[in-house]
Amino acid sequence: MLPSAVTHLRLDGRLFYIKRDDLIDPLLSGNKFRKLFTLIQSPLEHIHTVISYGGIQSNAMLSMAALAHQKGWRFDYYTKRAPAHVKQMPEGNLKAALELGMCLHEIDHGAYEATVRALFSRINPHELLLPQGGSDPMAERGMAILADEIKEWQREEGIDKLSVAIPSGTGASAYFLAKHLDLPVLTTPLIGDAVYLRAQMDALGPPCANLHLIETKQRYRFGTPYQAFLSVHQTLRETGVVFDLLYAPKMWLALLEHLSQIDGEIMYIHSGGVYGNATMMERYMYAKMV
Ligand SMILES: *Cc1c(COP(=O)(O)O)cnc(C)c1O
Repeated sequence: MLPSAVTHLRLDGRLFYIKRDDLIDPLLSGNKFRKLFTLIQSPLEHIHTVISYGGIQSNAMLSMAALAHQKGWRFDYYTKRAPAHVKQMPEGNLKAALELGMCLHEIDHGAYEATVRALFSRINPHELLLPQGGSDPMAERGMAILADEIKEWQREEGIDKLSVAIPSGTGASAYFLAKHLDLPVLTTPLIGDAVYLRAQMDALGPPCANLHLIETKQRYRFGTPYQAFLSVHQTLRETGVVFDLLYAPKMWLALLEHLSQIDGEIMYIHSGGVYGNATMMERYMYAKMV
């Protein structure tokens, strides 16, 4: 299964190497596989329950559900109360996670923060609490292994100059990758702006000089359909690779806007999340964009 494959595609006259972490596992794929790697590998026989919280369609939620299912653990997931139809006819990541046995706990918006805080104080030794997005210090080891795979590939290919691109939600993936890689790592903030992302990364450790935040000229709101996202997604799809619709489009747009400043070869880390495309595509249809 590891190292994951590297393929390539051509866009705007440039060659891009694609690190196919999306192919590792359909449910436990991409950077979530990397972030949960330590847990996947450890026997952890004393654990019977994993607990987490966050968005009702999150990619991390599905990966944690797949992990818990593999391990035979109970999975309690806390989220803000969703409209009734979301649960009556679950779709996408939620549907798959429920089928894997996830116990969903919906919290009223006003009580959400306090409920999440309380989770941290009542954890017992048989339970594992994973912060939102699976971003734990534990995520570092899996990203270090990804870094090693990239270094080994670069050596085998005899590539002298290489930049690596990976989109950021919590920023944990990009941060730990940059920490373990002696190459420029380019990322773009999806949730909030660059200031917010820097603060998230500062909480993980000292700044990495090789980690560069690049922005698109246009501002985009997370989880919102945009024509520009759809077009780059479709252009990429025509090259034969399906990327996720939530994070990848903005990272690609940022890369394309900064292309002339990037010399040497470029590797894009395909961070999975393709399973969530069904529900994102519905938003595009609802917005009459497709
Ligand atoms: C979760 C996710 C990210 C963001 O990862 P962080 O470590 O939270 O920055 C990026 N891309 C995809 C496809 C994801 O599922």
